[in-house]
Amino acid sequence: MSREYSLERTRNIGIIAHIDAGKTTTTERILFYTKKIHRMGEVHEGAATMDWMVQEQERGITITAAATTCFWLDHRINIIDTPGHVDFTAEVERSLRVLDGGIVIFDAVAGVEPQSETVWRQANKYNVPRICFVNKMDRVGADFWRTIQMIRDRLGANPLPIQLPIGAESDFKGFIDLIEQHAVIFLDELGTRPEPTPIPAELEEEAKRHRDALIERVAETDEELTLKYLEGEEITKDEIRAALRKATIAGTLVPVLCGSSLRNKGVQALLDAVVAYLPSPLDIPPPVGIDPNTGEQVTLTVADDAPFSALAFKIVSDPFVGRLAYLRVYSGTLTKGSSVENTTKGKTERIGRLLRMHANHREDIDEIRAGDICAAVGLRNTFTGDTLCDPQHPVILESISFPEPVIEIA
Ligand code: GDP
Repeated sequence: MSREYSLERTRNIGIIAHIDAGKTTTTERILFYTKKIHRMGEVHEGAATMDWMVQEQERGITITAAATTCFWLDHRINIIDTPGHVDFTAEVERSLRVLDGGIVIFDAVAGVEPQSETVWRQANKYNVPRICFVNKMDRVGADFWRTIQMIRDRLGANPLPIQLPIGAESDFKGFIDLIEQHAVIFLDELGTRPEPTPIPAELEEEAKRHRDALIERVAETDEELTLKYLEGEEITKDEIRAALRKATIAGTLVPVLCGSSLRNKGVQALLDAVVAYLPSPLDIPPPVGIDPNTGEQVTLTVADDAPFSALAFKIVSDPFVGRLAYLRVYSGTLTKGSSVENTTKGKTERIGRLLRMHANHREDIDEIRAGDICAAVGLRNTFTGDTLCDPQHPVILESISFPEPVIEIA
């Protein structure tokens, strides 16, 4: 069976945010725009979300599933739940271990808050490539540039605005895409993607200044582009995007976008940026494990035909299917019904069903492959942090050991 989505077209991401920055709202918008949910409400305004949440609870799934799959621009995006609360630091680390990239959301009024610093440092520890979304641009006191300054000063990062907001607070109207050199003025109709328009004349000069700075900073990250830049040659949009992608994955630059998830503004461009700048499972260094028999290091091959290996990153007790183990597959292919070795516990386990969790339904799948995130039913002895692998090729993936409560979904 061939792949539905190639590894290159897979993104395993987390949405990382200080509590209240708008993670829930942004996730809802992402799921809405990716057409996986067709209703949307406001978190604190009106009953739509509540209705929707009640419905979801009846089905036993919420957008807070440990991992939710959606699709954008012919890519499969797996969103791995990443708690942003300090109390859940261990859980945050666990999810950072299995994702390949992150969206970090900031509140444009509050900027970088203490919890954001903690999570940012944890993401540094796991070398998680990031893009930033400065949310709540519609709020009184919203300041895109101050937030960027805080990202630089407090987080020691190298933020690169790839958009210029048009207006702010109640007058937040859209943004200038500095790479594409056009403006996007938000529409009120839900789900409709605004057509790009020319940059407003009064902002042309400012946009040019920021675009020049962007080109210079992106060019600096790439030898060939540096030469071109110094020789005054034109650097194409494709070259900028390719170099920025590399720099984002290397962590040397952090693209920054703006928006207002509550007002449905900017989230589509954020999804574009996930596809454009965050890594596929092939773009990050292959994971390293330990051979439990020899104690030697084993570097995994991220490919479908390699020996199977996966890490269980969350165990959930589900009222409909029982015990669900969320898995991140690093290498190889596994079909439902087959046996795997839990090398951490030294036990053989049989995989019952394999499920892909979407926002509003779960999909039974026959097999899982390198780079996939899915939930497996039937694993009795598998706990968070355990490695599952091909019995012929035993490996233990580095894992963080934490006491693991089994979370009951009421
Ligand atoms: P979380 O704690 O990060 O998941 O944040 P929520 O998505 O629950 O949002 C927290 C609060 O901020 C809620 O009252 C939202 O309605 C509000 N909120 C979220 N995004 C925006 C935004 O873009 N603008 C404004 N004005 N409020 C927002």
